[in-house]
Amino acid sequence: MINDKQNIVILGSTGSIGTQALEIVDNHPDKFQVVGLAAKDEVKEVSYQIQKYNPHIVAIGSEIAYRELKREWGNKANIVMGIEGLSEVAAYDLADITLVALSGAIGILPTLAAIRAKKRIALANKETLVAAGDIVMEEVNTNGVELIPVDSEHSAVFQCLLGEEKYLENIWLTASGGPFKNYSQEELEQVTVKMALKHPNWLMGPKITIDSATLMNKGLEVIEAHHLFATAYDNIKVVVQPESIIHSMAEFSDGSVLAHLGTPNMKIPIQYAFTYPKRLSTMVNKLDFTELGQLHFAKPDVKRFPALQLAYEAGRMGGSMPTVLNAANEVAVHNFLNEKISFTMIPTIVKNVLYEHKVVVKPSLSSILEVDSWARIRSAELCS
Ligand code: MG
Repeated sequence: MINDKQNIVILGSTGSIGTQALEIVDNHPDKFQVVGLAAKDEVKEVSYQIQKYNPHIVAIGSEIAYRELKREWGNKANIVMGIEGLSEVAAYDLADITLVALSGAIGILPTLAAIRAKKRIALANKETLVAAGDIVMEEVNTNGVELIPVDSEHSAVFQCLLGEEKYLENIWLTASGGPFKNYSQEELEQVTVKMALKHPNWLMGPKITIDSATLMNKGLEVIEAHHLFATAYDNIKVVVQPESIIHSMAEFSDGSVLAHLGTPNMKIPIQYAFTYPKRLSTMVNKLDFTELGQLHFAKPDVKRFPALQLAYEAGRMGGSMPTVLNAANEVAVHNFLNEKISFTMIPTIVKNVLYEHKVVVKPSLSSILEVDSWARIRSAELCS
């Protein structure tokens, strides 16, 4: 570091987490500096970000967007392209922290690149841990890097555990239950894209919002928790907490339970991943307990929301199964968003692809990437 600012790289800078991370930088210009950005193809937004934050290096997914950015900003920043470019930004020399806020298993290779370059990883990309958790965690341990979860539930558990990891007995992941928690099976069949994109508590990107509505998001988070906290699936419980005020809990061997509470705002976990073990002020609304009224708790209904159960099953089988679960789900959600399949078809497609797959017990990285691409093709076939 040249000064005492933390140099930040943001993968997925135009997404929901990415733009909120940039607002955190805006609020603390004396603490953080953006040195690298990466996005898919949003030329206008990325141009604005280059102008405002002066990053040294910028990766963009599409070739057309690359040419445009190169023409406009090529003498100001190093513009790179594709998955190689993404990995280059992730591992950028001057970066202290790499925020992985990509959506989907496309995060695997750049995350590994950042780990090998010994960056602190602020991980907001749960699909990477679901698809390649064993390999990612092994690299984290070998390289001795800090992997700080940004997912609100895992940030909550991480904060509840500090220094007491060895006494952990159960993790309680809280779920809002999504917008359809009281829908009947018949009503679920009629859910439209527009309805599913309205989450009651959290403001998020489209993929995760649909995952929240099917409860697949919670299923992916169970697998994510298994890897992050080296906890057995029997010790990871899910409870519906519809107000999203309790962000998750850690239960210890003596029966004590620590919970992390706050207003549902992703800026808290994003910033904490940047400042850990310290804390900084935020512009986020604070909780007023006298105004809070009641908190509710319920068991998730896996009959109406089978995705959660599928994730537990895939997680318990391990190996390449979670890779398939994630890839099939990404494709099914994409097809639902494009109005090609119905809402209730999402878990059905995932289930069918999972059942066709013969588990690879200890997959290498290349075998994970192969399985991932097979599951995508198979899921797309089943969607059409
Ligand atoms: Mg979450």
